[in-house]
Amino acid sequence: METDIAALGYHALLLGGFVLLCQGLLSPVVFMVLGLCTYLRNFNALHEGIHTRRAGHNPLRMIRQAVMIVHGPLQLGRRELSINHHLHHAFPGDPERDPEVAVSTGPWWRAALAALLQPEHTFLAHVRRAGGITRTVRNALIYNAVVCAGLVALAGADIVWWIAVTRLGSTASWLVFDWVMHHPRLFGRSELPLPRALQLLWSVLFTRGNLNGIRNHTLHHRYPFVAGDELPALARFLAATPRT
Ligand SMILES: [Zn+2]
Ligand SMILES: [Zn+2]
Repeated sequence: METDIAALGYHALLLGGFVLLCQGLLSPVVFMVLGLCTYLRNFNALHEGIHTRRAGHNPLRMIRQAVMIVHGPLQLGRRELSINHHLHHAFPGDPERDPEVAVSTGPWWRAALAALLQPEHTFLAHVRRAGGITRTVRNALIYNAVVCAGLVALAGADIVWWIAVTRLGSTASWLVFDWVMHHPRLFGRSELPLPRALQLLWSVLFTRGNLNGIRNHTLHHRYPFVAGDELPALARFLAATPRT
């Protein structure tokens, strides 16, 4: 439930920032910088939420779809995103079975293009796999349409800033958390070769849990149920445990 609250909070912050932008109280540059940080934090909370165990009683379950930031009308829902990610964990890099393969393998420019069009690309792939639009996808499409219509009504021409921040945030998230993390030169290493100053800046901008997650992505694949914040302790434990 904590991850739902965090994701919902970051979504609300992004929406709040957008309202301020539309009112002329926030400059587009400040909105883009703050918005990208908020977007990545929401993305991270969504990812953590996918791997957490279901709580017995979670009053937020009914409004789970609301934690997802809407990029456009064609976008899968929370349920499909979760299933896709579990398939990615089960079959990483498998062209037939990993729904995230386009953004996690191949040359950087192809992955960047796939990351840019990730919402539409995964939507089409899902419809092709499922043989049509399932009930939960239909609900997600209705939700997207309502939110998009509301945002356009609120923002008018300023909608371009919403499209820019969500598209840039989504592209950066998929490119960093999939393509970079799965690059053969990084995947399988126990630590990322990041300078200390950059690590500090990263955790300030995108949370410490996110930094711990990207520093230990290989470990995350082997122990997906361990939260990002616990991964360094797990890495130390495994390093200190003698192999038999
Ligand atoms: Zn992965
Ligand atoms: Zn994961």
